[in-house]
Amino acid sequence: METWNHLKEIQPRIIDLLIKTLQKDRLAHAYLFEGSKGTGKRVVALHLAKSFFCENKDEENPCLQCLNCRRIEHGNHPDVHFIEPDGLSIKKHQVEHLQKEFSYRGVESAKKVYIVEHADLMTVGAANSILKFLEEPATETLAILLTEQGSKVLPTIHSRSQHMTFAPLSRATFLDKLVQNGNSNTISSLLASLTTSYHEAEQLLEGDWIAQARTVVIQLMEELSTRPTQVLFTLQEKWLPLFKEKSQLDIGLDMILLWLRDLMFTKVGKVDSLSYIDQIDLLQQQALSSSQDTISQKMSAVLHAKRQLVANVNPQLMMEKLLLNIQEG
Ligand SMILES: [Zn+2]
Repeated sequence: METWNHLKEIQPRIIDLLIKTLQKDRLAHAYLFEGSKGTGKRVVALHLAKSFFCENKDEENPCLQCLNCRRIEHGNHPDVHFIEPDGLSIKKHQVEHLQKEFSYRGVESAKKVYIVEHADLMTVGAANSILKFLEEPATETLAILLTEQGSKVLPTIHSRSQHMTFAPLSRATFLDKLVQNGNSNTISSLLASLTTSYHEAEQLLEGDWIAQARTVVIQLMEELSTRPTQVLFTLQEKWLPLFKEKSQLDIGLDMILLWLRDLMFTKVGKVDSLSYIDQIDLLQQQALSSSQDTISQKMSAVLHAKRQLVANVNPQLMMEKLLLNIQEG
């Protein structure tokens, strides 16, 4: 189970702020947690709820043992409520339904926590209903609103809640998470160089696409230096079927760019930063025969190709030209 110290590793700035607030016992009534998927919004919200309800707190740290802590951990605390979109929006009746339930049940405790997922999908009615509830003097209510798109959250919510922006994870933290989730070191190292968004990583992992793409990129890079006559064949037979969409092509170019960056890292001895961690032998071999200048020229050629993607270039011609440029270096 998490502690504030664990959470500090992924969101140091926000956790520091929350800890200070808890120590002074000055929690706001409403928080708006904004950040992309996988940045820890939900787990921080739950930990804050534990700190709010725990009966055996050690300063700002919930005990994680008491009934309140355990119920929150298992998602069945009677006073911690999750509101999620019903269809495409969060509607007024969803909030009112909860409020009615409270009044029927009688007051078990005066404390309530609402955790609203996709707060950007709240209708005006739902938002007003929540805000009204926060102002009721008899209850001690904490609302934690989560969103991936803060700019789409209603202005009334923005102005009445404390806004906290969850930063994207660092490459190292993201890499750790990928490995913990059962991905291999070789795939995780490349993925963490391409993105630090969970959502995007999941898409790239789908159907083993990233593993196949990685194999083709390595094959092309190897052929460019050892069997250049093979390159156009590999492009036709293996690259084009895998990088059909413009977005896939863009990632493919990023993967070539990362190979060249690895070459640069290898040249200057920074091998612990590699994206293609299992290719050190090939990288060292290629690094011997290229200068830093030629590597950076090749990188410029890839960046140029990336810009051309925006216009509707023919992918095959674009790639043929790029591979020729990289080969000649
Ligand atoms: Zn506790």
